[in-house]
Amino acid sequence: MIKFLDLHKINERFRNALDARIKEVLDSGWYLLGKQDKTFEENFARYCGVKHCIGVANGLDALNLIIKAYGFGAGDEIIVPANTYIASILAISENGCTPVLVEPDINTYNINPDLIEEKITDKTKAIMVVHLYGQAVEMEKIWALAKKYNLKVIEDSAQAHGAMYQGRRTGNLGDASGFSFYPGKNLGCMGDGGAVTTNDDELAAKIRAIANYGSDYKYHHIYKGVNSRLDEIQAAVLDVKLPHLDKDNARRREIAKYYRENIKNPRIILPKTYSEDAHVWHVFVVRCDDRGALQKHLEANDIQTNIHYPTAPHKQGCYSEHGKLNLPITEKIHDEVISLPISPVMTQEEVKKVVETVNAFK
Ligand SMILES: *Cc1c(COP(=O)(O)O)cnc(C)c1O
Repeated sequence: MIKFLDLHKINERFRNALDARIKEVLDSGWYLLGKQDKTFEENFARYCGVKHCIGVANGLDALNLIIKAYGFGAGDEIIVPANTYIASILAISENGCTPVLVEPDINTYNINPDLIEEKITDKTKAIMVVHLYGQAVEMEKIWALAKKYNLKVIEDSAQAHGAMYQGRRTGNLGDASGFSFYPGKNLGCMGDGGAVTTNDDELAAKIRAIANYGSDYKYHHIYKGVNSRLDEIQAAVLDVKLPHLDKDNARRREIAKYYRENIKNPRIILPKTYSEDAHVWHVFVVRCDDRGALQKHLEANDIQTNIHYPTAPHKQGCYSEHGKLNLPITEKIHDEVISLPISPVMTQEEVKKVVETVNAFK
C-alpha cells in the first residue's frame, strides 16, 4: 500500500533527536512558555526572515489572533479566496467580520488578484491570502491594492512553510502570517501547534499578550484574552524538525517534477507553478473529469489519495448565507481535484508506481 502520507515514517527519521529533546522537557519540569518555545520561536522567525514569531495552539488560532489583535470585528469585511480550507474563513467569521469570497485563478488555484479590487468597499479592512497547496501567492498586485486602499495583508501560510516569492519566504509576505504545525503539514508537530509571524513590534506584543489570557505580565490583564499557547513538547519537536524542512521540501519538489514530467494521461490536468522556489508541494493536486473513477482505480492498485477539498466553503451548511454566490471556478475545482501521494519519505519506486498507475487510467 502506498500511503497518502506516512507520518510514522516521517517522524521515525528523527527518533533519537526527538527522544532526547522530549526527555529534556520532561527533566526540566517546565511545560509551557519556556526555553523550548523561545528557542523554536527564534529559529522559526530567522527561517522566515521576520522579526517576531509567536507560538500558539494551532493554525486557526494564529489567524484568529491576528484579526483579533487588529481589532477587526462586526461590520468589517475581509477578502479571502473562495477556494481554501475552511479554517481561513472561520477565523474571519469567528471575529464577527464578514468574509468576502473571491474566485481563484484556475492555473494556480490561488486567489485571482485581478478580481479583488471590485470587492473592496469602505468596510474592507484586510486581504487574507492563502498560499494554497504549498504555492506562494504572487503578491505584487495584492501589495499594490493594500497600499492604495490602506488594507492589512494577512497570510494563511498553513500549507506553505518555506515557499518563496521574490526571494522572501511566506510568513514575510504580508503584515502578519498564520502558520499551522498540524502533524500532516510540511513542518508538523506531534499534536496541535501554530505560530504567528510578523515584523510589527506592537502587533507581536499584543498577540503574545492576547494568546496568554490578555496578560502582559503575570496576573496583569490588559486585554480580554484567550488561552492559545504552543506547549514545550511541541516546540521541542518542531525545533528538531525545522533544520530538515528545506531538504524535505527539496524532495517534495523532486517528486513533483517527476510527476509533472512523466504523468502523460490526457484526462489528467497537472498543477502549474510560476517558479520552482514558489512551491513546496504540500499536496500534489491534479484535476480529472471523473475523479471518483480515478480514485477508485488508484485504490484498486493500493494507492491512497485524498481530496482537497470535496465541498467548497460557500456550499457548506455552516455558510449557507453564502450558498447562492456565483463561484463557478471554485466549484469546478472542488468537483475535479484529487491529491496524489507526495511526501519526503516516498521512495522512487513508489513515485514510479503512482505515475504508471495514473497513466494506465482510461
Ligand atoms: C491546516 C490549515 C489551517 C488550520 O490549521 P490548524 O492547525 O489545523 O488549526 C488553516 N488554513 C489552512 C489553509 C490549512 O491548510
